[in-house]
Amino acid sequence: MKATARARRAGLYIRISDDREGAGLGVKRQSDDCHELAERLGWKIVETYDDNDMSATNRRKKRKGYARLLADIESGHVDAVLAWHPDRLYRQPRELEDLIDLIEANEVDIKTYTAGDLDLSTPTGRMHARMLGAVAKYETEHKAERIKRKVKELVESGAIHNGGHRPFGYERIFEGTGPRRKVIEDRINEAEAKYIRDWARRALEGESLYSLVTDANSRGITTSTGGAWSYQGMKFLLSSGRIAGLKEHKRQVVGKAVWPAIIDEEDHKALRTLLSDRAEQAKANGAQQSSTALKYPLSGLVRCTCTEDGIRMKTSPSSNRKGPVYRCPPKGDGGCGGRTIRIEDLERLMEKLLFAKLEEIEPLDEADPDDPRPALEAKVVKWERRVAELKEELLDGDRPAREIQEAIDTLNSRIAQAHRESAEYGIKGRVLEVSAEELRKAWEDYLPARKQSVYRSLVKEIRIHPATPPKNVWNPGRAEVFWR
Ligand SMILES: [Zn+2]
Repeated sequence: MKATARARRAGLYIRISDDREGAGLGVKRQSDDCHELAERLGWKIVETYDDNDMSATNRRKKRKGYARLLADIESGHVDAVLAWHPDRLYRQPRELEDLIDLIEANEVDIKTYTAGDLDLSTPTGRMHARMLGAVAKYETEHKAERIKRKVKELVESGAIHNGGHRPFGYERIFEGTGPRRKVIEDRINEAEAKYIRDWARRALEGESLYSLVTDANSRGITTSTGGAWSYQGMKFLLSSGRIAGLKEHKRQVVGKAVWPAIIDEEDHKALRTLLSDRAEQAKANGAQQSSTALKYPLSGLVRCTCTEDGIRMKTSPSSNRKGPVYRCPPKGDGGCGGRTIRIEDLERLMEKLLFAKLEEIEPLDEADPDDPRPALEAKVVKWERRVAELKEELLDGDRPAREIQEAIDTLNSRIAQAHRESAEYGIKGRVLEVSAEELRKAWEDYLPARKQSVYRSLVKEIRIHPATPPKNVWNPGRAEVFWR
Protein backbone atom coordinates (compact mmCIF):
# COMPACT_ATOMS: atom_id res chain seq x y z
CA MET A 1 0.00 0.00 0.00
CA LYS A 2 1.29 3.33 -0.99
CA ALA A 3 0.31 5.81 1.63
CA THR A 4 0.89 9.22 0.26
CA ALA A 5 -0.07 12.62 1.50
CA ARG A 6 -0.26 14.46 -1.81
CA ALA A 7 -3.66 14.95 -3.39
CA ARG A 8 -4.33 12.48 -6.11
CA ARG A 9 -5.58 13.48 -9.54
CA ALA A 10 -8.18 10.82 -9.94
CA GLY A 11 -9.97 9.52 -12.98
CA LEU A 12 -13.48 8.33 -12.24
CA TYR A 13 -14.47 5.36 -14.33
CA ILE A 14 -18.15 4.49 -14.76
CA ARG A 15 -19.57 1.62 -16.72
CA ILE A 16 -23.22 0.76 -17.02
CA SER A 17 -24.21 -2.72 -18.00
CA ASP A 18 -27.07 -5.10 -17.49
CA ASP A 19 -25.04 -7.53 -15.39
CA ARG A 20 -25.89 -5.91 -12.05
CA GLU A 21 -29.59 -5.45 -12.17
CA GLY A 22 -30.93 -3.16 -9.52
CA ALA A 23 -27.88 -2.46 -7.42
CA GLY A 24 -25.45 0.19 -8.54
CA LEU A 25 -26.45 0.01 -12.14
CA GLY A 26 -27.07 3.67 -12.75
CA VAL A 27 -24.53 6.27 -13.68
CA LYS A 28 -25.75 8.60 -10.97
CA ARG A 29 -25.41 6.00 -8.24
CA GLN A 30 -21.89 5.06 -9.33
CA SER A 31 -20.91 8.69 -9.64
CA ASP A 32 -22.38 9.83 -6.31
CA ASP A 33 -20.78 6.99 -4.38
CA CYS A 34 -17.38 7.56 -5.95
CA HIS A 35 -17.51 11.32 -5.35
CA GLU A 36 -18.20 10.61 -1.72
CA LEU A 37 -15.25 8.23 -1.62
CA ALA A 38 -12.98 10.80 -3.29
CA GLU A 39 -13.91 13.34 -0.66
CA ARG A 40 -13.10 10.87 2.09
CA LEU A 41 -9.72 10.12 0.53
CA GLY A 42 -8.96 13.73 -0.23
CA TRP A 43 -8.63 12.94 -3.93
CA LYS A 44 -9.60 15.32 -6.69
CA ILE A 45 -11.59 13.91 -9.55
CA VAL A 46 -10.09 15.56 -12.64
CA GLU A 47 -11.74 13.46 -15.28
CA THR A 48 -14.74 11.18 -15.66
CA TYR A 49 -14.75 8.31 -18.16
CA ASP A 50 -17.84 6.32 -19.00
CA ASP A 51 -18.92 3.42 -21.16
CA ASN A 52 -22.25 1.92 -21.91
CA ASP A 53 -22.32 -1.85 -22.21
CA MET A 54 -26.06 -2.10 -22.07
CA SER A 55 -26.63 -4.03 -25.25
CA ALA A 56 -25.04 -7.29 -26.19
CA THR A 57 -23.67 -5.88 -29.41
CA ASN A 58 -21.88 -3.07 -27.62
CA ARG A 59 -20.24 -5.54 -25.33
CA ARG A 60 -17.96 -6.69 -28.11
CA LYS A 61 -16.94 -3.22 -29.04
CA LYS A 62 -13.94 -1.52 -27.54
CA ARG A 63 -14.70 0.56 -24.52
CA LYS A 64 -13.85 4.08 -25.60
CA GLY A 65 -13.96 5.59 -22.11
CA TYR A 66 -11.76 2.84 -20.77
CA ALA A 67 -9.21 3.30 -23.54
CA ARG A 68 -9.12 7.02 -22.80
CA LEU A 69 -8.56 6.28 -19.11
CA LEU A 70 -5.62 3.99 -19.90
CA ALA A 71 -4.11 6.62 -22.16
CA ASP A 72 -4.46 9.25 -19.44
CA ILE A 73 -2.79 6.94 -16.90
CA GLU A 74 0.04 6.42 -19.33
CA SER A 75 0.46 10.12 -19.99
CA GLY A 76 0.25 10.94 -16.26
CA HIS A 77 -2.86 13.09 -16.60
CA VAL A 78 -4.39 10.98 -13.83
CA ASP A 79 -2.51 9.11 -11.14
CA ALA A 80 -5.41 7.44 -9.39
CA VAL A 81 -8.53 5.61 -10.44
CA LEU A 82 -11.91 5.43 -8.79
CA ALA A 83 -14.58 2.91 -9.63
CA TRP A 84 -17.72 1.63 -7.97
CA HIS A 85 -16.66 -2.04 -8.05
CA PRO A 86 -13.71 -3.82 -9.70
CA ASP A 87 -16.12 -5.44 -12.15
CA ARG A 88 -16.86 -1.96 -13.56
CA LEU A 89 -13.20 -1.64 -14.45
CA TYR A 90 -12.39 -4.92 -16.15
CA ARG A 91 -14.58 -7.59 -17.62
CA GLN A 92 -12.05 -10.08 -18.87
CA PRO A 93 -8.90 -11.49 -17.23
CA ARG A 94 -6.97 -10.11 -20.19
CA GLU A 95 -8.19 -6.61 -19.47
CA LEU A 96 -7.02 -6.97 -15.89
CA GLU A 97 -3.56 -8.09 -16.97
CA ASP A 98 -3.28 -5.03 -19.24
CA LEU A 99 -4.28 -2.86 -16.34
CA ILE A 100 -1.71 -4.52 -14.07
CA ASP A 101 1.07 -3.86 -16.57
CA LEU A 102 0.07 -0.24 -16.83
CA ILE A 103 -0.26 0.23 -13.06
CA GLU A 104 3.19 -1.21 -12.52
CA ALA A 105 4.80 1.11 -15.02
CA ASN A 106 2.99 4.15 -13.59
CA GLU A 107 2.41 4.46 -9.89
CA VAL A 108 -1.34 4.57 -9.75
CA ASP A 109 -3.73 3.92 -6.89
CA ILE A 110 -7.06 2.31 -7.52
CA LYS A 111 -9.92 2.52 -5.07
CA THR A 112 -13.36 1.06 -5.41
CA TYR A 113 -16.41 2.08 -3.46
CA THR A 114 -17.72 -1.41 -2.79
CA ALA A 115 -14.55 -3.52 -2.63
CA GLY A 116 -12.10 -1.01 -1.23
CA ASP A 117 -8.52 -0.80 -2.30
CA LEU A 118 -7.64 -2.54 -5.52
CA ASP A 119 -3.92 -2.87 -4.98
CA LEU A 120 -2.37 -4.05 -8.16
CA SER A 121 1.15 -3.18 -7.01
CA THR A 122 1.56 -6.17 -4.69
CA PRO A 123 1.27 -9.90 -5.44
CA THR A 124 -1.47 -10.33 -2.82
CA GLY A 125 -3.48 -7.43 -4.21
CA ARG A 126 -3.14 -8.78 -7.75
CA MET A 127 -4.26 -12.22 -6.66
CA HIS A 128 -7.28 -10.66 -4.99
CA ALA A 129 -8.11 -8.71 -8.13
CA ARG A 130 -7.75 -11.82 -10.29
CA MET A 131 -10.04 -13.73 -7.99
CA LEU A 132 -12.67 -11.03 -8.14
CA GLY A 133 -12.44 -11.13 -11.93
CA ALA A 134 -12.60 -14.89 -12.04
CA VAL A 135 -15.74 -14.93 -9.91
CA ALA A 136 -17.42 -12.37 -12.13
CA LYS A 137 -16.42 -14.27 -15.25
CA TYR A 138 -17.64 -17.54 -13.80
CA GLU A 139 -21.00 -15.98 -12.97
CA THR A 140 -21.37 -14.50 -16.44
CA GLU A 141 -20.40 -17.70 -18.20
CA HIS A 142 -22.51 -19.80 -15.95
CA LYS A 143 -25.52 -17.60 -16.62
CA ALA A 144 -24.89 -17.67 -20.37
CA GLU A 145 -24.50 -21.45 -20.28
CA ARG A 146 -27.73 -21.89 -18.36
CA ILE A 147 -29.65 -19.70 -20.78
CA LYS A 148 -28.20 -21.52 -23.77
CA ARG A 149 -29.13 -24.88 -22.34
CA LYS A 150 -32.65 -23.74 -21.56
CA VAL A 151 -33.19 -22.34 -25.04
CA LYS A 152 -31.88 -25.51 -26.68
CA GLU A 153 -34.16 -27.61 -24.53
CA LEU A 154 -37.21 -25.55 -25.42
CA VAL A 155 -36.38 -25.37 -29.11
CA GLU A 156 -36.01 -29.14 -29.24
CA SER A 157 -39.27 -29.74 -27.44
CA GLY A 158 -41.14 -27.40 -29.80
CA ALA A 159 -42.04 -25.19 -26.90
CA ILE A 160 -41.58 -21.47 -26.89
CA HIS A 161 -38.59 -19.81 -25.41
CA ASN A 162 -38.91 -16.73 -23.30
CA GLY A 163 -36.27 -14.66 -25.03
CA GLY A 164 -36.88 -12.22 -27.82
CA HIS A 165 -39.86 -10.21 -28.91
CA ARG A 166 -43.44 -11.20 -29.25
CA PRO A 167 -43.75 -12.72 -32.72
CA PHE A 168 -45.95 -10.76 -35.12
CA GLY A 169 -49.29 -12.52 -35.54
CA TYR A 170 -49.34 -13.95 -32.03
CA GLU A 171 -50.35 -12.91 -28.55
CA ARG A 172 -48.15 -14.13 -25.73
CA ILE A 173 -49.81 -15.58 -22.67
CA PHE A 174 -47.55 -15.43 -19.64
CA GLU A 175 -47.46 -17.14 -16.33
CA GLY A 176 -46.30 -14.81 -13.59
CA THR A 177 -45.09 -11.25 -14.06
CA GLY A 178 -41.86 -9.35 -14.35
CA PRO A 179 -38.64 -10.62 -15.89
CA ARG A 180 -39.12 -14.15 -14.58
CA ARG A 181 -42.48 -14.65 -16.21
CA LYS A 182 -42.80 -17.65 -18.46
CA VAL A 183 -44.46 -17.88 -21.84
CA ILE A 184 -47.04 -20.62 -21.56
CA GLU A 185 -48.86 -20.15 -24.83
CA ASP A 186 -48.75 -18.28 -28.13
CA ARG A 187 -52.25 -17.47 -29.34
CA ILE A 188 -53.16 -16.09 -32.71
CA ASN A 189 -53.62 -12.33 -32.78
CA GLU A 190 -56.45 -12.20 -35.30
CA ALA A 191 -55.86 -8.65 -36.44
CA GLU A 192 -52.21 -9.31 -37.25
CA ALA A 193 -52.89 -12.80 -38.59
CA LYS A 194 -55.22 -11.23 -41.14
CA TYR A 195 -52.36 -9.07 -42.39
CA ILE A 196 -50.05 -12.07 -42.58
CA ARG A 197 -52.55 -14.04 -44.66
CA ASP A 198 -53.11 -11.06 -46.90
CA TRP A 199 -49.38 -10.45 -47.40
CA ALA A 200 -48.69 -14.16 -47.96
CA ARG A 201 -51.35 -14.34 -50.63
CA ARG A 202 -50.21 -11.16 -52.35
CA ALA A 203 -46.57 -12.30 -52.30
CA LEU A 204 -47.62 -15.61 -53.83
CA GLU A 205 -49.51 -13.73 -56.48
CA GLY A 206 -46.34 -11.93 -57.39
CA GLU A 207 -46.55 -8.65 -55.55
CA SER A 208 -43.06 -7.53 -54.56
CA LEU A 209 -41.94 -7.44 -50.96
CA TYR A 210 -41.14 -3.75 -51.39
CA SER A 211 -44.67 -3.11 -52.41
CA LEU A 212 -45.95 -4.99 -49.34
CA VAL A 213 -43.59 -3.09 -47.06
CA THR A 214 -44.60 0.28 -48.49
CA ASP A 215 -48.26 -0.59 -48.23
CA ALA A 216 -47.94 -1.83 -44.63
CA ASN A 217 -46.05 1.28 -43.54
CA SER A 218 -48.36 3.68 -45.29
CA ARG A 219 -51.31 2.06 -43.52
CA GLY A 220 -49.56 2.45 -40.18
CA ILE A 221 -49.23 -1.29 -39.54
CA THR A 222 -46.26 -1.78 -37.24
CA THR A 223 -44.10 -4.73 -36.30
CA SER A 224 -44.57 -6.42 -32.94
CA THR A 225 -42.12 -3.97 -31.39
CA GLY A 226 -43.94 -0.95 -32.77
CA GLY A 227 -41.46 -0.20 -35.54
CA ALA A 228 -41.83 0.23 -39.28
CA TRP A 229 -41.58 -2.73 -41.63
CA SER A 230 -38.36 -3.33 -43.54
CA TYR A 231 -37.70 -5.52 -46.56
CA GLN A 232 -35.71 -7.95 -44.40
CA GLY A 233 -38.37 -8.00 -41.70
CA MET A 234 -41.12 -8.76 -44.19
CA LYS A 235 -39.05 -11.44 -45.86
CA PHE A 236 -38.19 -13.03 -42.53
CA LEU A 237 -41.83 -13.07 -41.48
CA LEU A 238 -43.25 -14.47 -44.69
CA SER A 239 -40.60 -17.14 -45.14
CA SER A 240 -40.71 -18.20 -41.50
CA GLY A 241 -41.96 -21.64 -40.57
CA ARG A 242 -43.43 -20.08 -37.42
CA ILE A 243 -46.47 -18.64 -39.19
CA ALA A 244 -47.24 -22.13 -40.54
CA GLY A 245 -47.02 -23.60 -37.02
CA LEU A 246 -43.64 -25.15 -37.66
CA LYS A 247 -40.68 -25.08 -35.37
CA GLU A 248 -37.32 -24.23 -36.78
CA HIS A 249 -33.76 -24.49 -35.70
CA LYS A 250 -31.37 -22.17 -37.52
CA ARG A 251 -34.07 -21.53 -40.14
CA GLN A 252 -34.49 -25.25 -40.87
CA VAL A 253 -37.93 -26.70 -40.20
CA VAL A 254 -37.58 -29.48 -37.65
CA GLY A 255 -41.21 -30.39 -37.01
CA LYS A 256 -44.59 -29.22 -35.83
CA ALA A 257 -44.67 -26.55 -33.16
CA VAL A 258 -47.02 -26.13 -30.22
CA TRP A 259 -48.41 -22.82 -31.46
CA PRO A 260 -51.21 -22.61 -34.04
CA ALA A 261 -50.61 -22.00 -37.74
CA ILE A 262 -51.69 -18.81 -39.49
CA ILE A 263 -51.02 -19.99 -43.04
CA ASP A 264 -51.00 -23.57 -44.27
CA GLU A 265 -47.90 -25.61 -44.92
CA GLU A 266 -48.32 -25.61 -48.70
CA ASP A 267 -48.31 -21.83 -48.77
CA HIS A 268 -45.33 -21.78 -46.45
CA LYS A 269 -43.33 -24.03 -48.76
CA ALA A 270 -44.31 -21.97 -51.80
CA LEU A 271 -43.39 -18.73 -50.03
CA ARG A 272 -40.06 -20.01 -48.89
CA THR A 273 -39.15 -21.15 -52.38
CA LEU A 274 -40.46 -18.00 -53.96
CA LEU A 275 -38.74 -15.64 -51.56
CA SER A 276 -35.41 -17.39 -51.75
CA ASP A 277 -35.58 -17.49 -55.57
CA ARG A 278 -36.53 -13.88 -55.59
CA ALA A 279 -33.62 -12.97 -53.35
CA GLU A 280 -31.27 -14.69 -55.75
CA GLN A 281 -32.87 -12.92 -58.65
CA ALA A 282 -32.59 -9.53 -56.98
CA LYS A 283 -28.94 -10.21 -56.30
CA ALA A 284 -28.37 -11.17 -59.91
CA ASN A 285 -30.08 -8.03 -61.12
CA GLY A 286 -28.21 -5.96 -58.60
CA ALA A 287 -31.37 -3.98 -58.30
CA GLN A 288 -33.75 -3.35 -55.47
CA GLN A 289 -36.69 -3.97 -57.68
CA SER A 290 -38.03 -7.46 -57.75
CA SER A 291 -39.37 -8.95 -60.92
CA THR A 292 -42.98 -7.96 -61.27
CA ALA A 293 -44.42 -11.38 -61.61
CA LEU A 294 -47.82 -9.91 -60.90
CA LYS A 295 -49.71 -9.94 -64.16
CA TYR A 296 -53.29 -9.40 -63.13
CA PRO A 297 -54.10 -6.37 -60.97
CA LEU A 298 -57.41 -7.75 -59.74
CA SER A 299 -55.84 -10.86 -58.25
CA GLY A 300 -56.81 -11.34 -54.65
CA LEU A 301 -59.98 -9.26 -54.95
CA VAL A 302 -62.00 -11.77 -56.97
CA ARG A 303 -64.25 -14.08 -55.00
CA CYS A 304 -66.81 -16.73 -55.82
CA THR A 305 -70.29 -16.50 -54.28
CA CYS A 306 -70.52 -20.28 -53.85
CA THR A 307 -69.43 -19.87 -50.24
CA GLU A 308 -70.89 -17.43 -47.76
CA ASP A 309 -67.74 -15.44 -47.18
CA GLY A 310 -66.68 -15.64 -50.82
CA ILE A 311 -63.83 -18.01 -51.50
CA ARG A 312 -60.94 -16.48 -53.40
CA MET A 313 -60.72 -17.37 -57.10
CA LYS A 314 -57.27 -18.08 -58.46
CA THR A 315 -55.74 -17.26 -61.79
CA SER A 316 -55.71 -20.15 -64.18
CA PRO A 317 -53.65 -20.00 -67.39
CA SER A 318 -56.13 -20.80 -70.10
CA SER A 319 -59.43 -22.46 -70.44
CA ASN A 320 -60.53 -23.58 -73.91
CA ARG A 321 -59.39 -20.67 -76.10
CA LYS A 322 -60.94 -18.06 -73.82
CA GLY A 323 -57.61 -16.90 -72.43
CA PRO A 324 -56.67 -16.81 -68.75
CA VAL A 325 -59.47 -16.92 -66.21
CA TYR A 326 -60.11 -16.60 -62.49
CA ARG A 327 -61.25 -19.99 -61.29
CA CYS A 328 -62.94 -21.11 -58.09
CA PRO A 329 -60.84 -23.67 -56.17
CA PRO A 330 -61.80 -27.36 -56.45
CA LYS A 331 -64.40 -28.85 -54.08
CA GLY A 332 -61.67 -30.48 -51.98
CA ASP A 333 -60.32 -27.00 -51.21
CA GLY A 334 -63.67 -25.57 -50.22
CA GLY A 335 -64.76 -24.10 -53.55
CA CYS A 336 -67.18 -25.20 -56.25
CA GLY A 337 -64.46 -25.94 -58.73
CA GLY A 338 -66.50 -24.98 -61.76
CA ARG A 339 -66.94 -21.23 -61.81
CA THR A 340 -64.64 -19.19 -64.01
CA ILE A 341 -64.56 -15.66 -65.36
CA ARG A 342 -62.32 -14.32 -68.12
CA ILE A 343 -59.66 -12.06 -66.73
CA GLU A 344 -59.72 -9.76 -69.73
CA ASP A 345 -63.48 -9.23 -69.51
CA LEU A 346 -63.34 -8.53 -65.81
CA GLU A 347 -60.41 -6.12 -66.11
CA ARG A 348 -62.12 -4.13 -68.81
CA LEU A 349 -65.29 -3.89 -66.75
CA MET A 350 -63.41 -2.91 -63.62
CA GLU A 351 -61.52 -0.13 -65.38
CA LYS A 352 -64.81 1.39 -66.51
CA LEU A 353 -66.29 1.13 -63.03
CA LEU A 354 -63.14 2.50 -61.43
CA PHE A 355 -63.12 5.69 -63.51
CA ALA A 356 -66.83 6.19 -62.98
CA LYS A 357 -66.27 5.80 -59.25
CA LEU A 358 -63.38 8.25 -59.21
CA GLU A 359 -65.47 10.90 -60.92
CA GLU A 360 -68.19 10.39 -58.38
CA ILE A 361 -65.97 10.75 -55.30
CA GLU A 362 -65.68 14.33 -54.18
CA PRO A 363 -62.11 15.32 -53.49
CA LEU A 364 -61.64 16.00 -49.81
CA ASP A 365 -62.08 19.59 -48.85
CA GLU A 366 -58.70 20.93 -47.86
CA ALA A 367 -60.15 22.85 -44.95
CA ASP A 368 -62.26 20.06 -43.53
CA PRO A 369 -62.85 21.13 -39.92
CA ASP A 370 -63.24 17.49 -38.93
CA ASP A 371 -59.89 16.51 -40.38
CA PRO A 372 -58.19 14.85 -37.38
CA ARG A 373 -54.77 14.81 -39.00
CA PRO A 374 -53.27 18.16 -37.90
CA ALA A 375 -54.04 17.32 -34.27
CA LEU A 376 -52.67 13.79 -34.67
CA GLU A 377 -49.56 15.14 -36.33
CA ALA A 378 -48.93 17.54 -33.42
CA LYS A 379 -49.25 14.67 -30.96
CA VAL A 380 -46.92 12.47 -32.98
CA VAL A 381 -44.27 15.19 -33.04
CA LYS A 382 -44.53 15.54 -29.27
CA TRP A 383 -44.37 11.77 -28.68
CA GLU A 384 -41.45 11.32 -31.03
CA ARG A 385 -39.52 14.01 -29.17
CA ARG A 386 -40.29 12.23 -25.89
CA VAL A 387 -39.07 8.90 -27.33
CA ALA A 388 -35.79 10.57 -28.30
CA GLU A 389 -35.45 11.96 -24.78
CA LEU A 390 -36.11 8.57 -23.24
CA LYS A 391 -33.48 7.00 -25.46
CA GLU A 392 -31.01 9.56 -24.12
CA GLU A 393 -32.08 8.68 -20.62
CA LEU A 394 -31.45 5.04 -21.38
CA LEU A 395 -27.81 5.95 -21.99
CA ASP A 396 -27.62 7.88 -18.74
CA GLY A 397 -28.75 4.81 -16.85
CA ASP A 398 -30.32 6.73 -13.96
CA ARG A 399 -33.59 4.86 -14.19
CA PRO A 400 -34.03 1.11 -14.67
CA ALA A 401 -33.71 0.32 -18.37
CA ARG A 402 -36.83 -1.84 -18.37
CA GLU A 403 -38.96 1.00 -17.05
CA ILE A 404 -37.72 3.35 -19.76
CA GLN A 405 -38.15 0.71 -22.46
CA GLU A 406 -41.76 0.20 -21.39
CA ALA A 407 -42.40 3.92 -21.70
CA ILE A 408 -40.82 3.92 -25.16
CA ASP A 409 -42.96 0.96 -26.21
CA THR A 410 -46.12 2.69 -25.02
CA LEU A 411 -45.27 5.86 -26.93
CA ASN A 412 -44.42 3.89 -30.05
CA SER A 413 -47.75 2.14 -30.02
CA ARG A 414 -49.52 5.49 -29.58
CA ILE A 415 -47.57 6.85 -32.55
CA ALA A 416 -48.51 3.81 -34.62
CA GLN A 417 -52.16 4.23 -33.68
CA ALA A 418 -52.08 7.90 -34.69
CA HIS A 419 -50.53 6.95 -38.04
CA ARG A 420 -53.28 4.39 -38.51
CA GLU A 421 -56.03 6.91 -37.80
CA SER A 422 -54.37 9.41 -40.08
CA ALA A 423 -54.04 6.85 -42.86
CA GLU A 424 -57.67 5.76 -42.56
CA TYR A 425 -58.82 9.31 -42.99
CA GLY A 426 -56.45 10.00 -45.83
CA ILE A 427 -56.91 6.89 -47.92
CA LYS A 428 -59.34 8.38 -50.39
CA GLY A 429 -57.44 11.62 -50.48
CA ARG A 430 -54.30 9.83 -51.60
CA VAL A 431 -55.89 8.12 -54.58
CA LEU A 432 -57.33 11.45 -55.57
CA GLU A 433 -53.99 13.19 -55.64
CA VAL A 434 -54.31 12.48 -59.33
CA SER A 435 -57.61 13.39 -60.91
CA ALA A 436 -59.77 10.79 -62.58
CA GLU A 437 -58.81 12.33 -65.90
CA GLU A 438 -55.07 12.14 -65.21
CA LEU A 439 -55.38 8.60 -63.96
CA ARG A 440 -57.22 7.57 -67.10
CA LYS A 441 -54.37 8.92 -69.24
CA ALA A 442 -51.64 7.33 -67.16
CA TRP A 443 -53.47 4.05 -66.61
CA GLU A 444 -52.07 2.21 -69.62
CA ASP A 445 -48.53 2.89 -68.44
CA TYR A 446 -49.17 1.64 -64.93
CA LEU A 447 -47.59 -1.68 -64.05
CA PRO A 448 -50.04 -4.29 -62.77
CA ALA A 449 -48.75 -3.84 -59.21
CA ARG A 450 -49.53 -0.13 -59.32
CA LYS A 451 -52.96 -0.74 -60.79
CA GLN A 452 -53.49 -3.27 -58.07
CA SER A 453 -52.72 -0.75 -55.35
CA VAL A 454 -55.22 1.69 -56.86
CA TYR A 455 -57.88 -1.02 -56.90
CA ARG A 456 -57.07 -2.14 -53.39
CA SER A 457 -57.45 1.36 -52.04
CA LEU A 458 -61.01 1.59 -53.36
CA VAL A 459 -62.32 -1.95 -53.78
CA LYS A 460 -62.90 -4.35 -50.92
CA GLU A 461 -63.78 -7.30 -53.13
CA ILE A 462 -65.45 -8.38 -56.33
CA ARG A 463 -67.95 -11.22 -56.01
CA ILE A 464 -68.53 -13.38 -59.04
CA HIS A 465 -72.04 -14.81 -59.55
CA PRO A 466 -72.76 -17.94 -61.60
CA ALA A 467 -72.83 -17.65 -65.38
CA THR A 468 -76.28 -17.31 -66.91
CA PRO A 469 -77.31 -18.62 -70.32
CA PRO A 470 -76.22 -18.00 -72.95
CA LYS A 471 -72.96 -18.85 -71.27
CA ASN A 472 -70.69 -17.73 -74.09
CA VAL A 473 -71.89 -14.14 -73.87
CA TRP A 474 -70.22 -11.76 -71.44
CA ASN A 475 -72.60 -10.64 -68.73
CA PRO A 476 -71.19 -7.74 -66.70
CA GLY A 477 -73.91 -8.31 -64.11
CA ARG A 478 -71.98 -11.35 -62.86
CA ALA A 479 -69.47 -9.13 -61.15
CA GLU A 480 -70.67 -7.43 -57.98
CA VAL A 481 -68.25 -4.80 -56.70
CA PHE A 482 -67.97 -3.94 -53.02
CA TRP A 483 -66.33 -0.53 -52.64
CA ARG A 484 -64.54 0.57 -49.56
ZN1 LIG B 1 -67.18 -21.25 -56.40
